[in-house]
Amino acid sequence: MPVESEAPSLTTQVDGRPHLVGAACGGCGTHTFPAQSSCPRCGADTTTTALPAEGTVWSWTVQRIAVKAPYAGPQPFEPFALGYVDLGHVKVESPLFGHPVDGWKIGEPVTLVADGSRPHLPFWFEAKEPSL
Ligand SMILES: [Zn+2]
Repeated sequence: MPVESEAPSLTTQVDGRPHLVGAACGGCGTHTFPAQSSCPRCGADTTTTALPAEGTVWSWTVQRIAVKAPYAGPQPFEPFALGYVDLGHVKVESPLFGHPVDGWKIGEPVTLVADGSRPHLPFWFEAKEPSL
């Protein structure tokens, strides 16, 4: 019997800007992304919360090897920057755009984008001062 699941949305709109939907623990304050119904640290219930739309690059690399199915990105595959963005309470893994793939710096400010202009991605972060 097939299992159907309804994945919760990864993003929401607050005052006309996209935000990632995370969860905050009512017991210990741990934040998670994607949202989880219970805290992975202490097990207490969580509350969904809109995470900050801006952060800084905590670390990054370049995905140079074609991603296997079910990856549905542009064909032929093109390398892209992939980073962890520090949003204060939580770090989020995300593609990065706005610079050449190897042109990122740790600590660089980035902004969340989730406008559907890259149909294969639900969200990504862009450099606040792009060089592309
Ligand atoms: Zn907790």
